[in-house]
Amino acid sequence: MADDRDPRFVPIKVQDGFAVIPDRWKVDFRVSAGELSRFYIELKENARLMGTRCPNCGSVYCWPRSWCKDCYVDCEWVEMSGKGKLTLCSRVEISLSDIQKEVPFFQGGVHLDGARYPVVVMLRPVEFEDLHVGMPVHAEFLPSEERTGRIRDFYFIPDE
Ligand SMILES: [Zn+2]
Repeated sequence: MADDRDPRFVPIKVQDGFAVIPDRWKVDFRVSAGELSRFYIELKENARLMGTRCPNCGSVYCWPRSWCKDCYVDCEWVEMSGKGKLTLCSRVEISLSDIQKEVPFFQGGVHLDGARYPVVVMLRPVEFEDLHVGMPVHAEFLPSEERTGRIRDFYFIPDE
């Protein structure tokens, strides 16, 4: 059960010999996604997971990059299939965000089909014991009325 007290006034806990220090960060800010705006717009408006591809070497980036890190040329948008394989998984016991209040939750690395690098994403609804590296997974999206154009608009679940 979550502790609703102001963490700045909660005593530290000692866990496995380490001091766990409750604290609070509250920083409201806005940031422009610039040339990568399409990623967030497609996510919110169309429940699409977009990546970018280098027209020179063919590398596909998701999370998208506006330019290829090897060729230094502008990338073009491509739609990702949303399918991939789990490369790592972790059970997170402490949330550092007001948005993710429920703990534990599960995160994993997913190597999307065709992508150059894996991405870290939310995994749900799953039991940690049921996850294993290499298992096929796919993206699911929140219903349109719940999507806000952020990466928490989607999560990955194991294929049946
Ligand atoms: Zn390239």
